[in-house]
Amino acid sequence: DMPLLSGVGLRKAFGPTQALDDAGMALHAGEVVAVMGPSGSGKSTLLHCLAGIIQPDEGEVRYAGHVLSALPDRERSALRRTDFGFVFQFGQLVPELTCLENVALPMRLDGQRRRPAEKLAREWLDRLEVGDIADKRPGEVSGGQGQRAAVARALVTEPKVIFADEPTGALDSLNGERVMRLLTAAARETGAAVLLVTHEARVAAYSDREIVVRDGKSRQVDLPAPALSRS
Ligand code: ADP
Ligand code: ADP
Repeated sequence: DMPLLSGVGLRKAFGPTQALDDAGMALHAGEVVAVMGPSGSGKSTLLHCLAGIIQPDEGEVRYAGHVLSALPDRERSALRRTDFGFVFQFGQLVPELTCLENVALPMRLDGQRRRPAEKLAREWLDRLEVGDIADKRPGEVSGGQGQRAAVARALVTEPKVIFADEPTGALDSLNGERVMRLLTAAARETGAAVLLVTHEARVAAYSDREIVVRDGKSRQVDLPAPALSRS
């Protein structure tokens, strides 16, 4: 079947650095795919190209029947806002707003009224097991709590694809695993696909499938034969 999101033949240079050198990958609806590889190998650049945040020099990105890489900036931004959610390593919550207001923000920017937006935001904070931080500002909560609020904010609009770039990179392993467990569970419940960039095997273990990027080139990791074939 057709992937929801795919990139083929992607090349991207930053000055003399060839960040992507014929990379590609596909993401099917509802699938969680981990992009692994050493620091500087091109993982974030691949994510940014697939999310339409940066334009590849060569190659094509397709999303749900659109050639994303050929859309005008305005249309690409609009599609990002309606269909994509983002979780980064840190620094994504607005410090002046409460955690509840942060989670309600995408809906408020979309023109929704405060009451229903905050009601839904509260439900999402509860779902991420941080209902108690609703009235606190990001500076008053722990890294793990803040990251769970960031996940709630990414999911509250029920995006089709969640782009998570080292979402646990600033957390200790216990909090990191908690974020991954809650993120992947919520994605599966809403049917969102997840493109997860990580260099940690323990984080990638939450994915259905892994892709490795090395020197700007990507390849599918061969999975062991499924246990089914045994009996
Ligand atoms: P990874 O996510 O695997 O750590 P990146 O995609 O961030 O790798 O970076 C790949 C290469 O491209 C690195 O050499 C990095 O320094 C370079 N690079 C990435 N973004 C930029 C940029 N905006 N300007 C200059 N060089 C960049
Ligand atoms: P526009 O290009 O219309 O200004 P935005 O900047 O609002 O669009 O970006 C839309 C989405 O893309 C937001 O969710 C934002 O977090 C994400 N985004 C934009 N720029 C970057 C970036 N450089 N790195 C990561 N995410 C980005």
